[in-house]
Amino acid sequence: MLDTVIAGSLPKPAWLAETQKLWPQWKATGDELLQAKRDATLLWIKLQEDAGLDIIGDGEQARQHFVHGFLEQVEGIDFEHKVTMGIRDGRYDAQVPQVVAPLKLKGRVHALEAQLLRAHTKKKVKFTLPGPMTIVDTVADRCYGSKVDMAMAFADLLNQEALALQADGVDIIQFDEPAFNVYLKDAATWGVQALERAAKGLTCTTAVHICYGYGIKANLDWKETLGQQWRQYEAIFPAIAASSINQVSLECYHSHVRPHLMGLLAGKDVMVGVIDVASDEVETAEQVADTIGKALQYVPKHRLFPCTNCGMAPMNRDIALAKLKALTEGAALARQRLD
Ligand code: ZN
Repeated sequence: MLDTVIAGSLPKPAWLAETQKLWPQWKATGDELLQAKRDATLLWIKLQEDAGLDIIGDGEQARQHFVHGFLEQVEGIDFEHKVTMGIRDGRYDAQVPQVVAPLKLKGRVHALEAQLLRAHTKKKVKFTLPGPMTIVDTVADRCYGSKVDMAMAFADLLNQEALALQADGVDIIQFDEPAFNVYLKDAATWGVQALERAAKGLTCTTAVHICYGYGIKANLDWKETLGQQWRQYEAIFPAIAASSINQVSLECYHSHVRPHLMGLLAGKDVMVGVIDVASDEVETAEQVADTIGKALQYVPKHRLFPCTNCGMAPMNRDIALAKLKALTEGAALARQRLD
């Protein structure tokens, strides 16, 4: 009960990549980089276990960015000639690669990290992939001419990798869809359809993560414009509740999300964000347990998984680690309170 887990990414050690950046440069190349990615993945498996997390992830140590890490293994994408594009409805500019030909996987994308993860922990493991709609929002299309067609093409590639991850022994496959919170109507229609296509045939647990973004300035400024009641989830949760996806990871603590919106996810497991990734202030166990207590009004205890609001990639490493400990201590306190 109240098994703890992280949304996905963790800070990269300074010997692996630039720190506190969303698109960090690697510190090595070739075999040396491969070894550094392996070492960082192992390090974070150990640190998550030491912090007492119940479900372990790879911390996304082997990918530069949560979307582009997947795209690097896709044929039909030109990474040599990136272009500047406004992403998340123009919230911020990013250097994005271009889709120039029909898409195809070059081979396995995440075999290294997934197999390491499975081999080095006995706990349940979760693996994250970008969702089709968020990928479409993070590349420039010079080929398909239709967002929906391109999303379905990406969904097929994601499905191919997801089935392989399942065969590697991954227990939970999560698709990250921050774009759902931006394009509400599209998310509730073709966004969820593309998501289900990406998860087709999976017998492991499937999940979707929908958040208000990493704790970077562009996201903090955007949140300021959303008013005192964030109701984006209200527009998309009914479609997700009606879908075949098993779990939903959402943002809660320090946000203006109305907690009762979790009630729209009846029948789903809910990974409730009880740790703020946009603040360096480490939560107390009491604060975490209080947030869990609020969520328990709308989510049954056997369906509630205390989690972080979003990934921790751009955070300071020591602060991220302290927040993981706060997460598990807060969940322990919430369990005591339930007894
Ligand atoms: Zn997120």
